Amino acid sequence: MGIMKVLFLGSGTSTGVPVIGCKCAVCSSDEPRNKRTRSSILITTGDKYILVDTTTDLRFQALANSIERVDAVLFTHAHADHIHGIDDLRSFNHIQGKPIPCYGSYDTMESIRHKFSYIFNGSARSDWIPRLEINIISSEFILYGLTIMPLKIFHGEITIFGYRINDVAYLTDCSGIPDDTKESLQGTKLLILDATRYQPHPKHYGLAQAIVVIEELKPERAILTHLSHTFEHNKVNSELPSGIELAYDGMEVSY
Ligand SMILES: [Zn+2]
Ligand SMILES: [Zn+2]
Ligand SMILES: [Zn+2]
Repeated sequence: MGIMKVLFLGSGTSTGVPVIGCKCAVCSSDEPRNKRTRSSILITTGDKYILVDTTTDLRFQALANSIERVDAVLFTHAHADHIHGIDDLRSFNHIQGKPIPCYGSYDTMESIRHKFSYIFNGSARSDWIPRLEINIISSEFILYGLTIMPLKIFHGEITIFGYRINDVAYLTDCSGIPDDTKESLQGTKLLILDATRYQPHPKHYGLAQAIVVIEELKPERAILTHLSHTFEHNKVNSELPSGIELAYDGMEVSY
């Protein structure tokens, strides 16, 4: 039993799986592991809960996993699938009775401030909106006893944050990893990495690219996330090299 638990709230790409209107075998599947909400993890240490991103599916994810606290939020970037559930944080404000600290890069937090101006402009009644405290980060810091290291990764044309949290790294929405980030990933036990589909994608690793990166970084274990409907869970999992597996909604690991 480790000192932190990682719960996959969502393992899906931006559309989620099933995709609206899609009749493919994966979208039509009864296998629960082929049902993927938007990508997010919840880290638990002691009695503290750290959420990574506030996806479009946050309310559903919180109910599905009986989440009753969020003590902090780490944001990777401000794309819709990673932030559009932000308003649901107000339910946790009501429970906890205080603002929730949110962490991210300057660009990400400015984008959130702009896209959700009603939260930050002080005009709405404060019990109707989330109460959030913005923290701009650029280097390692300690949060509830965990060492949180923001790591620059490429996501198509933009540079976003992955996070190393103690010996676990979470790199969603990743199409490339700069050399200094690879240095910072040395000794990672669990690497959670984007592999959106079989084919390369301009903003994400394809499956073969992700496997090459994992073989280079050599974590003890790797879990692939941000998965599209091109992946049938059981088929792909049975074909992956040992030590590499697909994430699924509700998957939990301890480190
Ligand atoms: Zn995404
Ligand atoms: Zn489909
Ligand atoms: Zn993205």
